[in-house]
Amino acid sequence: MNKKRAIIFRANHFDPVWRRCWDRPFYDDGRRFASYREIEAYYFDDAIESGEAFSCESAWTIRNYLKDRPEQTELLRRLCAEGRFELLGAGENIIDTNMPGSETLIRNLVIGLLWGREVLGETPRIPCFTDVFGSSCQLPQLVRECDMIPWIYQLDYNTPDRPVWIGKDGSAVVWGFPGNVARCYPCDRIPFGKHEPCPHCAGEGCPECGDRGFLPVYTAVLNVLPDPPEAEVLKCDLNGEEILPDRELTQHMAEFNSRSDGLRFEAGLMKSFLPYMKDYIALADRPPRELVSSKTENNPGQTGCYVSRIRIKQRERLNENLMAACETWDAILQDGLLHEELKDIWRDITLTCQHDAITGDHIDQASDELEDFGAGITDRLKAAADRIGTEGGGYTVYNHHGFEASFTAPAPEGHTRVYTQEGEPVPVYSDGTFLVRDMAGLSGRTYVTEEGEPQKPEIRGEG
Ligand SMILES: [Zn+2]
Ligand SMILES: [Zn+2]
Repeated sequence: MNKKRAIIFRANHFDPVWRRCWDRPFYDDGRRFASYREIEAYYFDDAIESGEAFSCESAWTIRNYLKDRPEQTELLRRLCAEGRFELLGAGENIIDTNMPGSETLIRNLVIGLLWGREVLGETPRIPCFTDVFGSSCQLPQLVRECDMIPWIYQLDYNTPDRPVWIGKDGSAVVWGFPGNVARCYPCDRIPFGKHEPCPHCAGEGCPECGDRGFLPVYTAVLNVLPDPPEAEVLKCDLNGEEILPDRELTQHMAEFNSRSDGLRFEAGLMKSFLPYMKDYIALADRPPRELVSSKTENNPGQTGCYVSRIRIKQRERLNENLMAACETWDAILQDGLLHEELKDIWRDITLTCQHDAITGDHIDQASDELEDFGAGITDRLKAAADRIGTEGGGYTVYNHHGFEASFTAPAPEGHTRVYTQEGEPVPVYSDGTFLVRDMAGLSGRTYVTEEGEPQKPEIRGEG
């Protein structure tokens, strides 16, 4: 009998904040609850050790894993090239699509996708918006403009009502799976449970738990043999949220392969399904009217996300605005000198926009961490802003009017001497401002400034 393919797909949905903190443990009733960063690192360790294919949704989790385990970078790059690892196209984080500014939606994608290309050698092309509360009508356009495959494999809570989703600007994508791909969960553990702190050490780490702080009992082991489907191929979702991967997957697949008459098990990636999706994805380019969703905007299912944890939202908006100011002036005054530094700060902003962060549906301990994290971003942006236009000894003044103007501008604190770049002294007034003469609209001019005694203005009498 011809066996059908049963492709095991492993890509946990990692929320960097939600029921745990991102990078600090928390304590409850004397027990230590590990951070997501710790658990996600154990997940990647075990998935790599299994030797079988696995995927990752967002750059944030795998990028931070490689920060902690830089020696694994080359291996992951090689696994990518061999088709045994893939980074999906969430961008840096799976962010909420309703509350952050549109620039943040774009930068989150661009920065995350380009990181994949630079570090893993492969630009992610399969969009990933798993678990996002509602789907902004801008997403189809972003998917298209970022040159991703116009197929969003999962949308949640409030979704288009038919397979083809046409966004605000007319860009079309398809979403979900077509009928020729069947799905199952071939494991007897619930996918969305949580690791208990180890009872021997209350989560602090001991030999019993291999120093992890929880016991390896919560694992997505391949142990429920599915029946062959009517469909062309079976997608076996062997994943969840923090459930750990099956380290003996090779052996378990071999056992299933000998037991099943109708299925041939193998580990794969999301892109392993693309050959079965061709006709479905092609609908995005020539959508038949009856398959187009009647909804363009799919607003959040949880309206409560607008009113909870207001300080997280206010901080995020402040940081977005500071970032916009920093990037604008950095580009105008110094040709993007701080681009790399600001890009790093963008990455951190995406954590505060993650779908369980800005929406406020996380635990109190995570909220405390996010407030501190957001305040740290504000400090870094303010420090960057203070440096913009001051590097290289010059002090640049910008005329934001669309017409030529003369005006006074504040000199840097304590600087009482101002010269043009040709060395001509410029009048400085007692209030610390100096005279900017005849500057063309929307242009800048760089002055040299010094501390010291104010230069005496030259009094010229005429007539
Ligand atoms: Zn989530
Ligand atoms: Zn222990």
